Amino acid sequence: MEHLNELFKYIDRNTDRFIEDLRILCQQPSVSAQKKGIDECVGLLEKIMEDIGLEARIFEIKNGNPIVFGELRSGSSKECLGFYNHYDVQPPDPLDEWKFPPFNPVIKDGKLYARGASDDKGDLISRLEAVRVFLEVRGDVPVSLKFLIEGEEESGSPHLPDFVRENADLLKADGYLWEGEGVDMKGRPIVTLGAKGILHVEFRTRGPKVDVHSSRAPLVPNPAWRLVWMLSMLKGPDEKIKIPGWYDDVVPPDEEDMRLLEEAPFDEEADKRELGLKEYLLGVIGVESLKTLLFSPTCNISGFLSGYTGPGTKTVLPSEAFARVDFRLVVAQKPDLLFRKLKNYLRENGFGDVTVIKHSAYEAAKTPVNDPFVTRVVKIAKRIYGLKPVIWPTAAGTGPLYVIRNWLGIPVVSAGGAGYSGSRIHAPNENIRLKDYIRSIKYMVALINSYEE
Ligand SMILES: [Zn+2]
Repeated sequence: MEHLNELFKYIDRNTDRFIEDLRILCQQPSVSAQKKGIDECVGLLEKIMEDIGLEARIFEIKNGNPIVFGELRSGSSKECLGFYNHYDVQPPDPLDEWKFPPFNPVIKDGKLYARGASDDKGDLISRLEAVRVFLEVRGDVPVSLKFLIEGEEESGSPHLPDFVRENADLLKADGYLWEGEGVDMKGRPIVTLGAKGILHVEFRTRGPKVDVHSSRAPLVPNPAWRLVWMLSMLKGPDEKIKIPGWYDDVVPPDEEDMRLLEEAPFDEEADKRELGLKEYLLGVIGVESLKTLLFSPTCNISGFLSGYTGPGTKTVLPSEAFARVDFRLVVAQKPDLLFRKLKNYLRENGFGDVTVIKHSAYEAAKTPVNDPFVTRVVKIAKRIYGLKPVIWPTAAGTGPLYVIRNWLGIPVVSAGGAGYSGSRIHAPNENIRLKDYIRSIKYMVALINSYEE
């Protein structure tokens, strides 16, 4: 711990400089969905990394945004710590809801406001600054470091899997720190050990060649009905997915997972109040509701489009209908296999005419809580934040961490983010508190330093 003192003193003396670097990175738009500012952001990042002393390589991606890879070999250690981050951001819209321009960072009341301040430029730059601290104070790092920084996370990471498959050796490390959530409402650091997978599918049905008068309904098939009947085949009111074999590979939570759920802070009543719900589906309560949330495969209709729903009356029989369904997956469900099962099931039940389009497919991934890398990340978090970290065995949402966890077999932990519960990621007025940002630099410094202890 004493070793940290000189490093922390250096951080305290240089906070203005670190905040300025964050400001510069946030000032550069890098909206993957709109292809805005990507090359400029890559150039800026490369410059920042080289200025720090990292070797930066830019991998051009065909029909995609470049992946930035950074590396620094330790003179004293054979171990390697990897970081995953992304330099792209969500579109800033709706612009009129921002208090400050999204790409002109403003600091007010100890917070820096900008698109990407939390997700994910704050995380990224705090990790890079940690490397700077080591090189400027000590001239070396006690563990080799790798940075995998992609530019399409906010667009579903379409090129990350191929990149990881083709560069498995380059990416090898003993553990990866994913982008993190930062701290919760009580200032406790959040550590998340996994993410669900997803199979996102679009269904299309067709009726007559063109929309027709609804008086033709006795003779003309209605594609909206067809779609409704088909959707009702997927899941029943008991919330069970009806597709045969859907649950075959599901790994239920183990004892350790359940222990984490017992300890997890979850204000169920507040959550229900906020949602205006009297109870959750099937009336689950207590730790059962967390178990259901984090360990159940889902089948969710996320969109349905057909016919006319505008003002006035239009009794039309539509020519087509669309629905989008996202299936969240748990460990160790295989999205490609499930997609085949889904298509077979529809065909066998007389819905072979429905067009089924796969939009995205991710595996779930999870690192066990007793993995030594998790122990390290948690121990340091507790030391730096002075509070017991909140550990989630998995997120309810999805992220591409399976490419590192499942394909390369490396432990992955999501922690050390610069954000907080009010960061408003993906929304107007995204911000981080500067004290959290500086603390996450310290956390990263302590984590890197732990390889020396
Ligand atoms: Zn992100």
